[in-house]
Amino acid sequence: MAYRSKITASQLERVFACSGSQVLPTSPQEESTYAAFGTAGHEYLEDCSRMNPWDALDLMEHEEAKATCESIDLQDLPFRLAEIRAEVPYAYSPITQQARVLEPTKEYQGRNIYKLMRADEIGGTADVIGHDFVADYKFGHDPTVPEYSEQMKFLALCLARENRLTEVTAHIVHILKEDGSINVYSHTFDIFDFAEMDMRLLKMQESVDDAAELVQLGKPAPVEIGEHCHYCRTKNACPAQAAIAVHVNETTVIPVMRDRVEGQLQRLDQGLRITDATAMLAWVKAARFRASEVEARLRGEVREHGSVPSPEGNYVMKRTRGQDRIDADIGYRALCEEVDKDVADAVVPRKITKKAIKEAAKLAGLNQADTERKVLERVKLDGGLSKTKGQEKLVKESV
Ligand code: SF4
Repeated sequence: MAYRSKITASQLERVFACSGSQVLPTSPQEESTYAAFGTAGHEYLEDCSRMNPWDALDLMEHEEAKATCESIDLQDLPFRLAEIRAEVPYAYSPITQQARVLEPTKEYQGRNIYKLMRADEIGGTADVIGHDFVADYKFGHDPTVPEYSEQMKFLALCLARENRLTEVTAHIVHILKEDGSINVYSHTFDIFDFAEMDMRLLKMQESVDDAAELVQLGKPAPVEIGEHCHYCRTKNACPAQAAIAVHVNETTVIPVMRDRVEGQLQRLDQGLRITDATAMLAWVKAARFRASEVEARLRGEVREHGSVPSPEGNYVMKRTRGQDRIDADIGYRALCEEVDKDVADAVVPRKITKKAIKEAAKLAGLNQADTERKVLERVKLDGGLSKTKGQEKLVKESV
């Protein structure tokens, strides 16, 4: 098996969508102020399961998180803190379908506990474990509800396998930073969800192994851009992100494209050879396709982050002003009320099409093809039928 870094529950959403992200080199990331707030809040709630809440508050150093935690009413939690296990690190193997709790040895005390996992295992730490429920604390806005959270589904699976349960309820305990108020979102997963998750985890591990082998052979890692890119630590090595960076850096890409087109045109000036022409057409088509693909990815990035910087300014999404659409008949009647009908008739264009003739025939209960033929004959007799000039179009015919 090629090298694959250890996968943990919080990464599942990304790895399910983009196997390449697990095998590309990572860049170090500093802890954001938001993450530091969340860590402090989690520590407080973990301490509350072992000690008096006032003592737990005294241990807090993060002032902003402390203010929030002071306001939390622990009675609003969907469980009693005295009856739960807090911060439980699981390792789960979808191959053996066995979950075990990682016990920090002396050597790993204080270090990354997931280093104790085997290669076939996936890790995940539950904030709270009860007999038949798991819970996760979330500080901030808009948490993913458990039903759609890969992390919660995984932790529920671990508990189900550990306690041999057929159902596990997952709670997301959402704590509002502003006032410490609690909202609880719950969902119960059953054996069908667990079986499906097992299958997906196995498939994911296979995809990551395939991606790792490709990278070892010097081929590009298969990547998939999306909302899951947000916390990806391999962004700096990601080929898809690099494509966006090239697109954003117009000062580089436009002169290169212009030079290439110029080169092709000069060759054509020196005498058109059919191979040059077809090669150029193929190149332009490919460039157009790549441009639309890169633009789609850029749009996704802008949607996700609000804006994407470029040397000439930021890319942002703007909605253009909607155009007024006037219903032809209602508009015509309204105009007739304001100006003379003859004037309105003179300026309002009337357009008749073959489609309109057919529709009229249908409404009148007449044969559509017959009516179309009769109307066109009459129009022709009255001199009202002419033909537009056909447009020349380049097509490739098979020989
Ligand atoms: S940034 Fe690249 S590697 Fe990371 S998840 Fe997105 S597409 Fe995958």
